[in-house]
Amino acid sequence: MKKILAIIGLIFVGLLLVITVNTLLFTSDKAVVEAAVPAKIDQDSAIKRLSRAIQFKTISHNDPEDFDYNEFLKFHDYLEKAFPITHQNLKRYVINKHSLLYEWKGSDESLQPAVYLAHIDVVPVEPGTEKEWSYEAFSGEVAEGYIWGRGTMDVKSVLTALLETSEFLVKEGFKPKRTICFAFGHDEEVSGKHGAGKIAEYLKTNGIRPAFTLDEGMMILDERLSPTKKPLAVIGLTEKGFVTLKFSVESEGGHSSMPPLETTLGILTDAVSRLEKNQMPASLKGVAGQLFDTIGPDMPFIQKVIFANRWLTEGLVLSQLEKSNGTNAMIRTTTAPTVIRGGVQDNVLPTKAYALVNFRILPGDTVKDVLAHAIKVVEDPRVTIEIHGETASNPAPVSSMDSKGYAAITKTINEMFPGVSITPGLVVGGTDSKNYIGVVDNSYRYLPVVYGPEDTKRLHGTNERIAVDAYIKMIQFYIRLMKNASGV
Ligand SMILES: [Zn+2]
Repeated sequence: MKKILAIIGLIFVGLLLVITVNTLLFTSDKAVVEAAVPAKIDQDSAIKRLSRAIQFKTISHNDPEDFDYNEFLKFHDYLEKAFPITHQNLKRYVINKHSLLYEWKGSDESLQPAVYLAHIDVVPVEPGTEKEWSYEAFSGEVAEGYIWGRGTMDVKSVLTALLETSEFLVKEGFKPKRTICFAFGHDEEVSGKHGAGKIAEYLKTNGIRPAFTLDEGMMILDERLSPTKKPLAVIGLTEKGFVTLKFSVESEGGHSSMPPLETTLGILTDAVSRLEKNQMPASLKGVAGQLFDTIGPDMPFIQKVIFANRWLTEGLVLSQLEKSNGTNAMIRTTTAPTVIRGGVQDNVLPTKAYALVNFRILPGDTVKDVLAHAIKVVEDPRVTIEIHGETASNPAPVSSMDSKGYAAITKTINEMFPGVSITPGLVVGGTDSKNYIGVVDNSYRYLPVVYGPEDTKRLHGTNERIAVDAYIKMIQFYIRLMKNASGV
């Protein structure tokens, strides 16, 4: 007995030792970079130009027929007038009538271009919420230290900030070594197929293979949003895939006074319920694991111990991450029933009904995996399962952290936002970057703005706005970045 106790004691001490050593070795290596002096730009004019840009109602709709393309053309004209130096010195291509591609030729042809993405389109204002805006949604009002309106966050501000950058750099006499491109699609909010998709096609057919694209998708999380409680810049290396499955049931209808034991609606809702109860497995493999490896050392002590010993705590970590919708989306392919249709009257048994379930696919899973999972979980031949629509896409490949582009982005973050930690991350939504898969070497998703909890609600929501200071800093960031990525 004594011997057994001694062995257990020894194992326990050994375990403690391993946990302690792992925790001590769990450190982050932060680059020591000197802060850069922000470029001196004409702030008032820049703010006015963004304010005016917001006033164009470049709204995208699911049906291409519903677009008011005249607003897009008027917006193109406005850009030409507002950024004359850029339009004289960069080549502008109009792609598929409403998207724009600018090319600023670099002096070194051996370097692959850097492409900066933004989109011209914005989402509509939800009908009925117009009155809730402090300033009219397309007013571009400058008040209370903010520029207000649809597109100030998502993402016209980036589009104009990029043009401010070229305007400034040309004036300053900067000559890029690496070619700089701006690619502005016109339908990002509705898949980007006709905008970014066509721009990517243009690059491909002309034999242009960019080194990297930089797009929206991630940003700096402030101390309230950041899991480390310290400002954290997240660079999206990949984004989730997307598929909607349609589940249909057909059975004999009839009078509701003599229903069968199982009805069309019963069979269908049972299938949906099973899908919800049997989610696809959670995993810390891939980018989510990379993220926790990077930020773990900066976490409070207990969390640090847990993340340093994932070989032992993986199950615990996953069960904790599953509890919040935000972190759950980072560790698994999510299941979201979004539409259900069936039935016409309260005393008639429907013969047909269907449900749509939207899955956001974690890198590592595929559209095929999701379909196989759904068939296995539903396990009912009376339910027909098929891919709905034409928007299914596998997750994007994971971009490299070991590239010139990534190095330039992280260096610029350190220079312009001193003290902010940087981590790779996963974009759980979709961006225009997915249209460039196979066309570029790497796609990074990062905007140089700080987000707090109140900002996330304004995205696609009411009272979208950007702080004047944040917008100026954004321009200064891109100026610095283009020097770092394309300079001598
Ligand atoms: Zn956007």
